[in-house]
Amino acid sequence: MAVDTVSMEKIVSLCRRRGFVFPSSEIYGGLGSTYDYGHYGVLLKNNVKARWFEAMILERDDIVALDSAVILHPRVWEASGHVEGFSDPLVDCRTCKLRFRADKLEDSQCGRKPSKQPGEYKECDLTEPRQFNLMFETTVGAVQEAGSRAYLRPETAQGIFINFKNVLQLARRRPPFGIAQVGKSFRNEITPGNFLFRVREFEQMEMEYFVPPAESEQWYRYWIDERLAWYLRHGLRRSRLRVREHGPEERSHYSQGTSDIEYLYPIGWSELEGVANRGDFDLTRHTEFSSTKLEYVGQDGERYVPHVIEPAVSVERIIVALLVDAYDEEVVGERERTVLRFHPHVAPVTAAILPLIAKDDGMVSKARSLYEELRKRHSVEYDDNGAIGRRYRRQDEIGTPWAFTVDEQTLADDTVTVRDRDSLAQERLPLASVRDWLDDALEREWQTPQPD
Ligand code: ATP
Repeated sequence: MAVDTVSMEKIVSLCRRRGFVFPSSEIYGGLGSTYDYGHYGVLLKNNVKARWFEAMILERDDIVALDSAVILHPRVWEASGHVEGFSDPLVDCRTCKLRFRADKLEDSQCGRKPSKQPGEYKECDLTEPRQFNLMFETTVGAVQEAGSRAYLRPETAQGIFINFKNVLQLARRRPPFGIAQVGKSFRNEITPGNFLFRVREFEQMEMEYFVPPAESEQWYRYWIDERLAWYLRHGLRRSRLRVREHGPEERSHYSQGTSDIEYLYPIGWSELEGVANRGDFDLTRHTEFSSTKLEYVGQDGERYVPHVIEPAVSVERIIVALLVDAYDEEVVGERERTVLRFHPHVAPVTAAILPLIAKDDGMVSKARSLYEELRKRHSVEYDDNGAIGRRYRRQDEIGTPWAFTVDEQTLADDTVTVRDRDSLAQERLPLASVRDWLDDALEREWQTPQPD
């Protein structure tokens, strides 16, 4: 199916219908652009995080894990530059009372005339842009006094920088080495929207890679390639991914080089992940503000402040990209089906186990025992609810790659059918070999059947 037939509306509606993602606080009228994850959404999210964690930590020797606090010492955010500079230019419209990002007016709709952008319609009356800090403030402690103001972290990276010394000493690392973490970040976005693409609360996966200064450019290129390869390995189409290098005018104050890995979302090419060469900015600033020296000192007395390469992404932007890339509609035997062609390593459910007739004790007993066997090692689902065609379609919509069906023949010869989500091919297998078959299928190289 052509990419332009996948709209954000279709993705939102499928996510809702199949219990991936719900609008949050719905029974209270909803809280705009905030979402809750249902069962399949949680499984999908967990898989995305697990694949990232494997690639960043488990399959390497040079990166360690960290889980830092959400609320850090307020000085952290002064040192990082967020108190002073983590802001977007905001304009208000005095007519419709809506707020817009002054640098993204072309992506916004006028409150009175949605076909126009803010400022274009004759009734628009926009204020001058002013800077709006995106950090959520909170108060720590029981008394609301000036000294106890704190922030919810807008990125996980700073928690890593302030633990640099701990890791260097206790994990006994020397550059090049990295520290990776996954956790919630909060940004009071002026114009959240496009489903999970821009939300105020999201889960970031960030890795700070500390390198000798002379090697920073080489490692910056290395991480762009590594991250791009990770997306391809998990099924995203090459034609829907591109790397866009920022020009000097677009870069953050700390950056010596930034590239966005962009995905062709239904809203157009947009940032999926950022890879930045942050130089020595962060460690130098935290040294200055905390009076703790953050540097590497080698056995031979060599000392330097490492430079930092950072690949940073949110689970949310990956989930939207995976959903958009996997979404397909087709007509099979005069019936339409919607299918999510997920890579088997990210699919929320790896296999469904279906007794053909729910009331047949023999089938149920064989299907249940297969299910009990497979669930020890895989995310599998037992489903005996409704006609078999409807059950297949349900599994297609949540992206389950394989379904094992127990039928009359199983009772006679202990074989089951395995149905492939993408090709719809069915083959028969001995019940006793299903476990090995599934292990092998998961080891196989996988390529999306979607047209590139
Ligand atoms: P944008 O320009 O889209 O606002 P950014 O350049 O501010 O993003 P970074 O600060 O580089 O984003 O954040 C790193 C990553 O975190 C982004 O590449 C994106 O994957 C994710 N991210 C940032 N803001 C949001 C958000 N509001 N909702 C979901 N994910 C986000």
